[in-house]
Amino acid sequence: MRDFYLLPKDGQFYKANLHCHTVLSDGSLTPEQIKEEYCKRGYSIVAFTDHDHYAWHRELDDEGFLALAAYETEIEQYPAREADWPTLKVYHLNLYDRHPEKRSQEAAPKLPQRRYEDLDYINGYIRSMREEGFLVCYNHAYWSMQTHQDYSGLRGLWAMEIYNNGCERDGLYGYTPQVYDEMLRSGQRLYTVATDDNHNHEPFDSLLCDSFGGFVMIKAKSLTYKEVMGALERGEFYFSCGPQIQEAYIHGNKLRVKTSPVEKIYVIQEGRNCYKKVAAPGETITEAEFTLTGHEGYIRIDIRDPKGFHAGTNSFWMDDILAANLAEG
Ligand SMILES: [Zn+2]
Ligand SMILES: [Zn+2]
Repeated sequence: MRDFYLLPKDGQFYKANLHCHTVLSDGSLTPEQIKEEYCKRGYSIVAFTDHDHYAWHRELDDEGFLALAAYETEIEQYPAREADWPTLKVYHLNLYDRHPEKRSQEAAPKLPQRRYEDLDYINGYIRSMREEGFLVCYNHAYWSMQTHQDYSGLRGLWAMEIYNNGCERDGLYGYTPQVYDEMLRSGQRLYTVATDDNHNHEPFDSLLCDSFGGFVMIKAKSLTYKEVMGALERGEFYFSCGPQIQEAYIHGNKLRVKTSPVEKIYVIQEGRNCYKKVAAPGETITEAEFTLTGHEGYIRIDIRDPKGFHAGTNSFWMDDILAANLAEG
């Protein structure tokens, strides 16, 4: 059996914020200011996801920065009255354009109708946007007041947000791994991302600042739209709020992981069993090896550093891993 890579062997990691609002919707910063502040902090990629406002800020691109064309749209539960807002359920979806060069940049973005209770309609919208050339991400379930009943029947999604930094600042409900596992256990095969969802209404040095808290590390051959979008499509990235995952691959029946210094390296599965390696009190670890049985259903790595920050891989299904190995001979 050949080695199976949860993160590609070749390429370079690029730090990306995949959820960002600017003055084009309800954010406080211009796209130029976003680029400047994120580049200062080691980011190479920002997806601009203004509310119902599609934009491709290609004028920002240079050898060290790539802007992804995107927007965020929503389907609200019922016609909102001001008094209903705190408990209003809503689907928020990010749409990432795979081929902005093929799209008329002046055309209005396709927005969904407000048919919250109509799951077939919502899945049809997701399907049609995929066919239009977009990757569709399901955002911040916790903030959206949504439960298993609202998201277990979704189909055709590219990813969901396991961490949303704006929600963390808003109500300490940023990290929602249970939502990801519930979606996987309901039969969806999708990736997971950490994002900022920044609006920048607070200064950068405030603990209420919503920037620089959730990101993805994308492993791509180069910083071009084609390579980066291809890596996103194939799931060649991991999410993080701080720690790094340098390597993750399966050799024979051994899963091997290398990380920045962390306290805990866990392998979450389809059932409640977990593989785990933890550091001695006050110490850290940077690698782990686990023996796989083939009966895990899916696996995903979740690590936690001494500050409590998580990072983790996408989920990988054992039948896919086996099929890939068989196909490769
Ligand atoms: Zn949203
Ligand atoms: Zn947003």
